[in-house]
Amino acid sequence: MQDTLARATAECGKIRAIAVIGTRLVESARRRHGTFPVATAALGRSMMGAALLAAAMLKPPDRLTLRLLGDGPVGAVIADADAEGGVRGYVQNPMVALPIKANGKLDVGRAVGQGMLVVSRSMGDAQPYTSSSPLVSGEVGEDIAHYLLTSEQVPSAVALGVLLRASGTVKAAGGLLLQVLPGGEEFSAELEARIASLGPISSRAERTASAEELLQDLLDGFADARIADPTPLRLRCTCSRARASRSLLLLGPEALQELIDDGKAELRCHFCGRTYHYERPQLERLKAEACAPQG
Ligand SMILES: [Zn+2]
Repeated sequence: MQDTLARATAECGKIRAIAVIGTRLVESARRRHGTFPVATAALGRSMMGAALLAAAMLKPPDRLTLRLLGDGPVGAVIADADAEGGVRGYVQNPMVALPIKANGKLDVGRAVGQGMLVVSRSMGDAQPYTSSSPLVSGEVGEDIAHYLLTSEQVPSAVALGVLLRASGTVKAAGGLLLQVLPGGEEFSAELEARIASLGPISSRAERTASAEELLQDLLDGFADARIADPTPLRLRCTCSRARASRSLLLLGPEALQELIDDGKAELRCHFCGRTYHYERPQLERLKAEACAPQG
């Protein structure tokens, strides 16, 4: 079954909902980064949260980066997404283990800790637009909802969940973003009850065939509910050799000379793990470029 993202509206556009099923996405991120369970959950929730935010806030080809900068043991959790279901992410300390909470759940809140949630939107060549809000619980979903309320002034409910097997592999992952736009306040109570009746989003994702089905269940009974064709959700990295070379150039001539003296350099992408290798002649060309007069 493919991972998908689906969007819906109801009640003349006063209700907006976006759902993701991200089981494969989160499992491939887990494998790539070698995350322990609580870090898998923090990373998976953040990646699905970034995909939901991007779908709600962006138009192609813009991108968005979500940073959870908490003081917990996993360190920074970074996820970025485009408006077309492309997502990537990484966590600073993937190998973190914490005791399970009394309710049997992974303690993502403690793993992330207290700090800030920062969202940067890049639109073409313009400077990225950055806004932030304090982390409420470190559980990711609540933090994103708080960000949308305080930074974007849109009351929102965000549910994100990752269900793991005893072996640590991902059994199911899903997310839901629900917004009541101005004029739709009368539907808030009914929607809240509906979300509660869906139960935990991760077990819901385990039983649900698609993001569309999740939206159908959520919006059943609301007037003129419309669900758009779903978009595939996938791991997509934007790194390239050209970008790696640009970041080497930014080191400046002195640092480049040190790399030339070493005879080689390696740049590894945090997101996908791809490594870009540079030999001495390539480094010398870069240094020549770094020293070339601007103009
Ligand atoms: Zn990459």
